[in-house]
Amino acid sequence: MKRIVLTGLVLGLILCGCGERSLGPSASPEPASEASPAVSAQPVSLPPEESSSPREPVEEDWRLMLVNPDHLLPDDFTVELAMTSYGYEVDARIVGPLNAMIEAAAADGVTLLPCYGYRTREQSAQLFEKQVSRQLAAGLSREAAVEEARKWVAPPGTSDHHTGLALDIVTPEHQVLNHAFAETPAARWMAGHSTEYGFVIRFPEDKQEITGITYEPWHLRYVGEEHARVMREQNLCLEEYWEQLYGEGEA
Ligand SMILES: [Zn+2]
Repeated sequence: MKRIVLTGLVLGLILCGCGERSLGPSASPEPASEASPAVSAQPVSLPPEESSSPREPVEEDWRLMLVNPDHLLPDDFTVELAMTSYGYEVDARIVGPLNAMIEAAAADGVTLLPCYGYRTREQSAQLFEKQVSRQLAAGLSREAAVEEARKWVAPPGTSDHHTGLALDIVTPEHQVLNHAFAETPAARWMAGHSTEYGFVIRFPEDKQEITGITYEPWHLRYVGEEHARVMREQNLCLEEYWEQLYGEGEA
């Protein structure tokens, strides 16, 4: 009986160890060849390992700034804002691509109407509290209301709108931020063409588990044309793409 338990324990440890990258300070790297050292007669000279030198820290592209509950807006974050002709502020660097996208949509007979841009922590706090109150009024407990509100409004410090790179865009015939917006020509146009101007749907329908935010066909996020293209081709949300580029070593 004891032996069986022990065997199971050892087996369990082996299985757990398989996926680990490091076995601790005493562990030596696995031999490159599967043959035992005694069998190989010739000493094998291995090419210098690339991983032996520390990796250069990768500088983050400003366009890919990730803000979410796991990546809070840095306290010292600043952004140069510009007022759009729609009365909403965004990072001054994205006004050009934004206007280009809106003009291209107009040429296709589709009116895009920005209705939110940059948002401060204070504005996020107000919006969040409003959403919590709405859930409380619907009969939820405070705790449940906060949890539910998080699905709809990012708590202060965690909103993509803090970056100045995000916009909510509707259309004159449908100005409500709800899932029915996805069926409008404006939403279809943005889903099909926004990447050509460097914008992605920040919270896609099939990535809700990863973003933690409900599907938002109206919330566009500037990431730049080349990044938008890759994200589209590989079907990656910003969390996934960011992790691919910068995530190594992240807790
Ligand atoms: Zn939004």
